[in-house]
Amino acid sequence: MRSENSSFNFPFSHIYVEDAIRDHELTRRILARFSKSVVIPINHYKDVFNRSRQNFGIQKSSQALILAKNTGASIFPGAPVCQDFGYDHFYYASSIRNCIFDCEYCFLKGMYGSGNIVVFVNLENTFSELEALLKKHPVYLCVSYDTDLIALESLTGFATRWAEFARSHKDLTIEIRTKSFRKDIYEKIEPCDRVIFAYTLSPDEIIEKHEKKTATLKERLEAASCAMNKGFPVRLCFDPIIYCKNWKAAYFSMLKTANENIDIHRLKDVSVGSFRIPADYIKKLRKDFPDSPVCQFPYENRNGVFCYPEKLADEMEEYLISLLERLMDKEKIFRIENSENS
Ligand code: SF4
Repeated sequence: MRSENSSFNFPFSHIYVEDAIRDHELTRRILARFSKSVVIPINHYKDVFNRSRQNFGIQKSSQALILAKNTGASIFPGAPVCQDFGYDHFYYASSIRNCIFDCEYCFLKGMYGSGNIVVFVNLENTFSELEALLKKHPVYLCVSYDTDLIALESLTGFATRWAEFARSHKDLTIEIRTKSFRKDIYEKIEPCDRVIFAYTLSPDEIIEKHEKKTATLKERLEAASCAMNKGFPVRLCFDPIIYCKNWKAAYFSMLKTANENIDIHRLKDVSVGSFRIPADYIKKLRKDFPDSPVCQFPYENRNGVFCYPEKLADEMEEYLISLLERLMDKEKIFRIENSENS
């Protein structure tokens, strides 16, 4: 399914625009592209995004776009429970909130009250904030943390700008994580060993049931392979592993497809982790999505993080790792415990 594609089918029939960035170059560009959308001036994005009693599911099916100015911090330390891939100074950047994809288990549904998308158009301010941080120490930064940046690339151009920024700042390494099929970005930017493209992989049956609007497994692999052939470091994320009755066969088949479609030896690394989510988020997800099998699964609460029962989580993760170890160096396999998914 290629519904993320393109220039014509973004569902932004309504665009809220903060007064402060009405004349920003990116605001003008986006508004010119969506010339038929209803434009609603607002004072502050939180007046719309943080309104009480919003319905995430309904908004998600017909997302509005909110263009705003980020006036506070936009670089945050990565949570201690998240995978840092061995980097000492691990952060994430928040330049867009929410995603055009619709994964049933997405932690953003638990984190935000609104299903609409906020784009902070003043990315240059984030770059300045980061430059100040880089004066203190090197930085490893996840730039596609609370969105899928590649999926929104034709709207914002942020992935390209992040890649170019990283290339010109030698102490910065970025990860751009995605479930998109898009490959056009690899034609636009020069490869850099500090710009890591990370593809989250799932078996097709999980994608069809639980990762709506995302690219198929083969499409993701084709895009990952394209990135690798252009000289970018590529990471595969088998994370989150989602339980299903035939999980063993499903994940075996997924890895077989991966091995047939990408040169696994040339990967930078891989991550493995079963689904887990902070308790506050799953509480909201369960309330909002009573029919979702993933949300309603009887997880165990381990120190405020809901996870599969330990035995099942270990079994699923260790099975995948045992398969991966046949295909690649052990040192390249990172097992994640108790972090959020994307
Ligand atoms: S899990 Fe990731 S790709 Fe899926 S909706 Fe959430 S942010 Fe988007």
